[in-house]
Amino acid sequence: MKLSLQRTRKTRADGADSGDYGLLRLLREGLFGHQGWTPAWHKATPRAHYRVIVVGGGGQGLATAHALATEHGITDVAVLEKGPIGLGNVGRNTTIIRSNYFQPDNIRFYEYSLKRWEQLERTLNFNAMVSQRGTLNLFHTEAQRDLFTRRANSMRLLGVDAEALDRKEVKELVPLVDLDHGRFPVLGGFLQPRGGTVRHDAVAWGYARAASRAGVDIVEHCDVRRVVAERGRVTGVETSRGFIGADIVCLAVAGHSSTLAGTVGLRLPLESHVLQAFVSESIKPVLDVVVTYGAGHFYISQSDKGGLVFGGPIDGYNTYGQRGTLPVAEEVAAAGLTMLPGLSRVRVLRQWGGVMDMSMDGSPIISRTPLDGLILNGGWCYGGFKAIPAGGIATAHLIATGEPHEIARHYDLDRFADGRTIDERGTGPYPWAH
Ligand SMILES: Cc1cc2nc3c(=O)[nH]c(=O)nc-3n(C[C@H](O)[C@H](O)[C@H](O)COP(=O)(O)OP(=O)(O)OC[C@H]3O[C@@H](n4cnc5c(N)ncnc54)[C@H](O)[C@@H]3O)c2cc1C
Repeated sequence: MKLSLQRTRKTRADGADSGDYGLLRLLREGLFGHQGWTPAWHKATPRAHYRVIVVGGGGQGLATAHALATEHGITDVAVLEKGPIGLGNVGRNTTIIRSNYFQPDNIRFYEYSLKRWEQLERTLNFNAMVSQRGTLNLFHTEAQRDLFTRRANSMRLLGVDAEALDRKEVKELVPLVDLDHGRFPVLGGFLQPRGGTVRHDAVAWGYARAASRAGVDIVEHCDVRRVVAERGRVTGVETSRGFIGADIVCLAVAGHSSTLAGTVGLRLPLESHVLQAFVSESIKPVLDVVVTYGAGHFYISQSDKGGLVFGGPIDGYNTYGQRGTLPVAEEVAAAGLTMLPGLSRVRVLRQWGGVMDMSMDGSPIISRTPLDGLILNGGWCYGGFKAIPAGGIATAHLIATGEPHEIARHYDLDRFADGRTIDERGTGPYPWAH
């Protein structure tokens, strides 16, 4: 532990170290015209060989590299990112964090992650705007009430916060909700008070900065074209900047996992789908909790800038296009309006899509693969943002020790062959249904 602390304080030889973000530093920079800031992370040129290459500079890849350096003292690590840091799903999501799952394995994993979010800003010395404003799931039928009660009980049995709200309490918490006039009147809500939101790109920047300070090479604009193996073992990756050797290669490329695994003949239990997000113009504060609609797929929160941030289901067809279609945009808008009719007055400012790696049981994969030295971090479906702190720690543990971390033991690839799937929604082996 001492070793890694010393390493995190090291100033890089090229001076690309933005230093600590403390009160005195902020005051000094404020007084002297902000001339002293330097880039938050060092833009490395790749070396010929690394002990570990992490492909993908999204939240999962950066958190993995950070944990390798700070928890295991492994700093001979490169993160290879095909574009700039933060433009993948880590910067495209609707920023929701929570641990309100039903399956015990998922509750434990996501709760472990939520606890790390609670300390993240101190760990990274970076303001990620972690806001535990609560996540509220509305329900509209008695059957749904039963389902949410089971889920809340499952969480409480593991010591995780979950509360049932009646209609009056829902209305007090979210005055904008129309309880009675939608197609499915609201019967109540299920609240996780410790859920909330985190500013997504700050997470990417914070991890990139902390990993770089810990000695990791962050290589942007380095497209990995294929994984290279000899005699059943990984030897490196072929990239747009040439071959780079490695003892271990970890794929953390979200919606592109199948493509890269396919370059060494692996077929993964994943499908790539597009998920859209929407942001409205800035309005005065009207919503200080994350709300989800139970009779369709819709979730919404308000950012600190005032924009309403919302989304719905995946579009439902396989694609690598980061766009999305109008019918799903309409479906999302319709669900939003029936829940919060006041939204009809708000203009949508921006829309985008991200490519999701949807797994066959809706749960993630942190696992060795049949190819020696190739590790997979993927299958995050809609939920990999909230999992970033835990996913990074668990993946780094697997790489460093060769053994799965206890919180992610059940997320191995073999579960699909062995019939140990963790089907959170009980919808069967249909990626689009998770
Ligand atoms: C619209 C939307 C809303 C979402 N909302 C939420 C939410 O509210 N809460 C939540 O928990 N999750 C949410 N998610 C899911 C979450 O964002 C993802 O599951 C998670 O970000 C995936 O992990 P990542 O951050 O590592 O992915 P990414 O940020 O996508 O990282 C993968 C990186 O790999 C890079 N890459 C790909 N191929 C290559 C290659 N060949 N060579 C080099 N680099 C490569 C990509 O450029 C990318 O930067 C949402 C996703 C979307 C799209």
